Amino acid sequence: MTLPRGFKSEAERIAADLRARIGADPRGELDLHRLAKELGVRIVAADTLIGLDRLEEIERLQAFAFSACTFDINGTPVIVYNPLRTEARSVSDIAHELAHIILQHDLSEIQELDGVPFRTCQADQEEQATAFAGTLLLPRPLLLDAARNGESFDDVARRVGVTVDMARFRWHTTGVERQAIASNARRRQ
Ligand SMILES: [Zn+2]
Repeated sequence: MTLPRGFKSEAERIAADLRARIGADPRGELDLHRLAKELGVRIVAADTLIGLDRLEEIERLQAFAFSACTFDINGTPVIVYNPLRTEARSVSDIAHELAHIILQHDLSEIQELDGVPFRTCQADQEEQATAFAGTLLLPRPLLLDAARNGESFDDVARRVGVTVDMARFRWHTTGVERQAIASNARRRQ
């Protein structure tokens, strides 16, 4: 599966616009709760809706089956996330759901696991949401700045509060390290 032509640069543009809209530093951590509020989206931890013991039971039945999902409640999108995940993983999960909303993906398909509804998506929309979430949390200017300052993707993950996996993926697919080395070399000449 490949992203549509122009998707990556469009994602960078939208991510930059959204950060500007809430006055977020283009090179720092993104407050997803602030962004959600700006977009009229509610974020709710699943244990406020069902008991934590119930969540743990679902986890035992099928590990990692439930990360986050979005419901439309009287026209308000509500993202419900699993508080059993690490904080960095929750950030990815919430950003992924926000990405579906921002990209105006269809929220209609619902499946159930042990009485708990889950949204299923088309594979291409899943890929777009994951790519967009990464761009939102780690836009190119942030990564390039980090690379120029000698940070590693581990440093970035820690500083910005995202998973190392996400930081590594963005670091390598955006090619910022190569670009930083080239521009530092030019500066030294
Ligand atoms: Zn999804």
